[in-house]
Amino acid sequence: MLQATRKDAAVQNDPNVTLITPEAPVAVQTHGGRTKCLQRLVRLDLPVPRTVGLSFDAVHNIARGEMPDLGMLLSPFDAGELLCVRPSSEDPDWGGPGAILNIGMNDARYVDLSERLGEEAAASLYARFVHSYAVLVARLDPDVFDEIGMEGKASLSAALHAFEDETDEPFPQDPAVQLAEVLRSMARAWEGTSARLLRQAKGAPADAGLGLVVQSMALGFGTGECGSGVIQLVDGQTGLLQLTGRYLSQSQGRDALEGRAEALFLERDPRGPSLEELAPTAFKDLIRYAGLMRTKLREEMQAEFVIEDGRVHLLDGVRVSRNSRAAVRIAVRLAEDKIITQQEALMRVPPVALNELLHKQVDRDFAHDVVGRGVAASPGAATGKIVFSAADAQASAARGEACVLVRRETSPEDIRGMHAASAVLTERGGMTSHAAVIGRGIGLPCVVGANEMRFQMRKKLLTGPGGRVFKEGDVITVDGTHGEILAGDVAMLEATLDDAFQTLLTWADEERDISIRANADTPADARLAKSFQAQGIGLCRTEHMFFDDDRLTVMREMIFADNSEDRRAALERLLPVQRADFTELFQTMAGLPVCIRLLDPPLHEFLPSDHAGHRALAEALDLPLSQVTRRVDAMGEYNPMLGMRGVRLGITVPEIYDMQARAIFEAAITAGKSGASVVPEIMIPLVSAKREVELVKMRIDLVAAAVRSETGAEFDYKLGVMVETPRAALRAEEIAQEATFLSFGTNDLTQMTYGLSRDDAGRFMSDYVRQGVFSEDPFHTLDVDGVGELLILGAKRGRAVRADLVLSMCGEHGGNPESIAFCRAAGFDYVSCSPFRVPVARLAAAQLAIFDKLG
Ligand code: PEP
Ligand code: MG
Repeated sequence: MLQATRKDAAVQNDPNVTLITPEAPVAVQTHGGRTKCLQRLVRLDLPVPRTVGLSFDAVHNIARGEMPDLGMLLSPFDAGELLCVRPSSEDPDWGGPGAILNIGMNDARYVDLSERLGEEAAASLYARFVHSYAVLVARLDPDVFDEIGMEGKASLSAALHAFEDETDEPFPQDPAVQLAEVLRSMARAWEGTSARLLRQAKGAPADAGLGLVVQSMALGFGTGECGSGVIQLVDGQTGLLQLTGRYLSQSQGRDALEGRAEALFLERDPRGPSLEELAPTAFKDLIRYAGLMRTKLREEMQAEFVIEDGRVHLLDGVRVSRNSRAAVRIAVRLAEDKIITQQEALMRVPPVALNELLHKQVDRDFAHDVVGRGVAASPGAATGKIVFSAADAQASAARGEACVLVRRETSPEDIRGMHAASAVLTERGGMTSHAAVIGRGIGLPCVVGANEMRFQMRKKLLTGPGGRVFKEGDVITVDGTHGEILAGDVAMLEATLDDAFQTLLTWADEERDISIRANADTPADARLAKSFQAQGIGLCRTEHMFFDDDRLTVMREMIFADNSEDRRAALERLLPVQRADFTELFQTMAGLPVCIRLLDPPLHEFLPSDHAGHRALAEALDLPLSQVTRRVDAMGEYNPMLGMRGVRLGITVPEIYDMQARAIFEAAITAGKSGASVVPEIMIPLVSAKREVELVKMRIDLVAAAVRSETGAEFDYKLGVMVETPRAALRAEEIAQEATFLSFGTNDLTQMTYGLSRDDAGRFMSDYVRQGVFSEDPFHTLDVDGVGELLILGAKRGRAVRADLVLSMCGEHGGNPESIAFCRAAGFDYVSCSPFRVPVARLAAAQLAIFDKLG
């Protein structure tokens, strides 16, 4: 289509200022995405107006005051032709100065165009150019020109006078001068500090370049059908094939067009004919061009066009902007249509974007009233009436009313309230606090560490930093994806696990080379994990099985037992309950590996913390209140996270682990009889010394032998260690002699490596990140330098004594794409994360493998 002529020759040999022909030396990295895209359209022989591309270097030089040879730049264009200049950055998300149209408009052109288009239309064109030149190039006060307006002769003469008054100079008439000033102002705007900071915030490098395109204007004026618009073949909200766009017809007359800029092509506008009726040939051409762009540019594109006397000019093509769910559908359909490969489709969807499909989200296209902020601890959004206790959450659920559970922080006692609530908001805590971990596990939207808000639990009031007060029963929305609290009800986008989502993840599984398991504590969690195709359970935190009312009382009896015999009696009542849980877990996972962690938290977490709770416990156990209170107080610890928990419990109160091991073995036998055979994995928490493992292993082996002889059944099991103290990582060489697997619990390992409480870090984490002490919250993004070094050390030392040692990570980092990359590079066998993060992990792992395969 675009034939180069002799006068183009000058601009064809200079890569910095080049006419866009099929062969022109332009690339995204040197000229920006728009320039490259226009060249692709030219190569497809589409009707693109003549365009000259300026490279990043050329624009950089312009900003420094070195203007290219304008005679050469203008040589491909006809004398008197109007031009526009548009930005072309490497990534369209990095922004750039706005386009400037109608360059070359002056008094002489006004006279010419008045003859062709009529005086009013020509005056409007000129007035609009004076307006944008005055504001964007001469940097005059926009208010002056806003008052003048941009339509008709009166506006034009007022605009020209205003320009002269403000600058003491007449409006420049030489098109070359106008163009030079436009180029200079756009180049300088890009290099300005605020523009640079803005794009750096969007991930642009500090030295990101800007290209510019100078294009001949297709005016969209004539005697036949004229106008301008955009068109695309898909809907950017749903990703479904649907012709969409808008068209503004000039020929229909300005009055008739008032408010019609959004008139769609196909949905007939009751106030006028559609584009298809106005210009049937152009309409057909546009659809053909859009289809060609889709197949040849291998992307869903939006075409910007002008229709002049019924003929189409394609000004630009940009990637259709889309939300995450549309991105998945578009990528999958392009691959199904064999336009891109499955690997390319996988690489086109950012893993974390899947969160938007997995959970209901606030529709950010609508206004929302943010009243507070905190840590975005568990994605998704939900609306409900405020309740301040777990019991009230359960009562609310019983009434069928959605509620938001507001707590200072949550503890295991709140679990049932959390299950009953639609969302959780806490004053304290960070990414690995109780509320955050449980929230992510059960897919409950959760914001923690909202300490700028005031939580008055007794008065049942919640106050935002701006002073907005909410009381019990008031409706709020928790946006756990963005860490925001919103007033009232807001528009939401539903979760959509559609076919495209499933297809993409099936393709991901074909590519990836690291396994993904789920952290699942209950049979319900296991079903969820299975539905997301987790390859097993990497961490079952058994303590969560003891918090149902009936079990909790027996658990408390066990804790209060004075002697081993009483303790054993209580544990015997817990045994069938645990056995039933494990049996269901094994049956649900149907032969996939299940790794069960022996009891980890300090026992006093199972005891009530307030006076009413103590009294209820005294009644339940038939003990004097004073005795209960004394015992509870005596069990308190100054620093429970570093106290009597994990394997320390297993060594000092060994009957608990005995009971758990028996329950696991008996469940494995039962589940094995009715389905696939089970090889349970038993994991010992909070180990710091080899001797701890030896002692626990000895007893578990004894339990296994007893169960074998009692039942006559044969079974196998694996014993592993959870590496979550720095010492366990350092001493992995000797610990691995006793363990077939090591699973790195990076929540505790981060806490202990930094000496930073995971429950209190939220109070100052944002200050630390803001001041650059930490680049990220280490409970959210694995600290590869410190904690990562311990992981690598532990892995190496462990494998040095046991080459087939299975290595994994089961802390909350397991679901993060960067942490998965780290584990994969370190030769880990699997990562384990909350069920809702499994899809994200599957896609992230696939991308890493593809990246390596593609070299
Ligand atoms: C860990 O510490 O990383 C872990 C997975 O265990 P928990 O979060 O239960 O302490
Ligand atoms: Mg831990």
